[in-house]
Formats: sequence, structure tokens, C-alpha cells
Amino acid sequence: MIVKLEQDVSAAEKEALIEKVKSLEYKVTTVRTQEAEYLVGTGSKEFDIRLIGNSKGVEDVHRVSDVYKLVSRKWKVQPTRISLGDGVEIGEGSLSIMAGPCSIESEEQIDLVSRHLVENGVSIMRGGVFKPRSSPYSFRGVGLAGLKTWSGVARANGIKIISEVMDVAQIEEMYPYIDVYQVGARNTQNFNLLDALGRVDKPVLIKRGISGTIEELLQSAEYIFSGGNEKLMLCERGIRTYERSSRNTFDLNAIPILKEKSHLPVISDPSHGIGIRHHVESIALATLMAGADGIIYEVHYSPEDAYSDGQQTVDFRESSEMIRKMREVFALREGL
Ligand code: PEP
Ligand code: MN
Repeated sequence: MIVKLEQDVSAAEKEALIEKVKSLEYKVTTVRTQEAEYLVGTGSKEFDIRLIGNSKGVEDVHRVSDVYKLVSRKWKVQPTRISLGDGVEIGEGSLSIMAGPCSIESEEQIDLVSRHLVENGVSIMRGGVFKPRSSPYSFRGVGLAGLKTWSGVARANGIKIISEVMDVAQIEEMYPYIDVYQVGARNTQNFNLLDALGRVDKPVLIKRGISGTIEELLQSAEYIFSGGNEKLMLCERGIRTYERSSRNTFDLNAIPILKEKSHLPVISDPSHGIGIRHHVESIALATLMAGADGIIYEVHYSPEDAYSDGQQTVDFRESSEMIRKMREVFALREGL
């Protein structure tokens, strides 16, 4: 059960409510986010919801039987939209495109990609400066210095930045330079990182774990939400299966299922999802028809020369084509 408290709830009213919920054999956790305060009750006993709903200090109450609570659609039916400022918004009703290289490499690369995005009306740029690589001998990112350069160029061009955070200590150092923190597939269940991201006031895109279930992704999102940060997006990026002809198996099913189960925006990552450059577009378009609110993909001026993930990175010509088609497919879907 979730009880949303009224903003001006008194300490005595809150205490009385906690006791009431406990008396129903529910375990109570108090959650205070940047937006509101909640009591999250976990238990299974049947009870008359009016018992709680009519109490002083209650704004709203719902029974949520899912293992995740605050990110569930059973709690919040209306889809969540997230503002990055300057009119850039993410969520149901609009198509969010986030594009950029797998890794930030050089000032020249940042300039060229930014220009490509501006020319195509794309206002969110992706790129890793801290890279989780399977091998320690692979390129591991340009780090904070590169992020600072990138941020300067992006701000000058009205572009928002999404970049992966791998460690709790990086949250604060990245903070002034980014607009969205990305939690990578290898960190989806790094619970210390998730807790820490609950304490920041910037949006977080959380990717599904490499072998993670949909329910595990939602529970990871619940960590951040219950830690205080409601500005969350979920991202399907493919899972590891027995199939070897693609890098990952993009789980198209996850898109409508996540949309149904959660009120959070759902973003699709076709680049990591299939891992094959000339198929990225078709997966992107398919995921839009499946209901995705946005696409994050990898683009580089010369994918052959990219420091990482070149095999799944499109060039500018392919990217422009993709953007045009994504907008058309999105408009078609919205008009159906
Ligand atoms: C990335 O976005 O470049 C990345 C490393 O993604 P993932 O965490 O999905 O592998
Ligand atoms: Mn990548």
C-alpha cells in the first residue's frame, strides 16, 4: 500500500497513521522524495482502504500488490514526464531522441556530433566519459576533463547531456556538467549507487541489467525513487541470451510491459540491443511502434574509427535518415 501524505501533515497525524498501517500487519517505510512524502506499506492482509483514506493527513492512498511500489502504475496512473529545462521534456506524448558516440573522444568529435544534432533538431546528446569495459585494456574514457569540455560545447549549442555514472564518488563531480545520469547495464543492481542517486535532484536513466528481469529493473528504479529522486526513466537495452548472431537480444516485449507496469518514461537503446550497425534503425522503429517514449542510440562521424562500439554505431547520414523515419513512425503511432 502507498499512502501519500498531505504537505502540511503534523508529526502527530503521521505517527497515528504509521500506527494504523502497522495495526493492519503491514511493515511501514517512510519515504521522503524531493516532491512528496509517502508511507510505503508492505503486507498482504485484506482491509478496507477507507480506514486509511479517511484519516487526517492523507492526500491519497492505493493498494499496490507489485513488489515495486512507487514506480508502479497501480500507484500513479498518469504517465510521468520529466523536464530537463529549456523546454526539453521526456515522457509519454512526445518523442525523445538522445544520440551521440559510445565514448566521448576529442573536441573535434564533440563539435561534429553536436553540429549533427543541432542540424537535425535533436537536443539531448549521449556519450560516455567513464566507460565500463569488459577488458581493462580497452579504452576506458576521457574522464571528467572530457566531460567539462563536452559540457561547454553542449551548453553553447542548447544541447542537454546524458552520461554514465559508474561510481558513487563520480555523482558529485559530474553534477555541474550533466543533465541526466545514466546507470549502465552492469550497474543496474549496484544498490549503493542507486541509493546515492536517490539523493540527487537530477534525472536518472536506468538501464536493464545484462541478465536482468523486467521486475528487477523496476525494483532497481524503486531504490532510486524511494531514496528521494522521482525523476526516472527506464531503458531496455537488450539482454544476454543463448543467441550469438546479435550482440544482445533486444527484448521488444519489455517496452509495452514496462509501459503497462510503470508510469515512468520508457526509452529504448537499439544500438546495444542488437549491436549491428545496419539493423539499429529497424529496431529503433519497431520499439517506437511498441510504445517507447524515446530512443538512445550511438552515432559517430566515422564509426570505423570510434574508440568503442563502432560496430553498432551509425554515421551522420544513417543517423539523419533514422531521425526522419523515427519522427514519421512516432507521428503514425500517435495518430493510430
Ligand atoms: C553505453 O551506453 O555505452 C553502455 C555501456 O551501455 P550498457 O550499459 O547498456 O552496456
Ligand atoms: Mn556503447
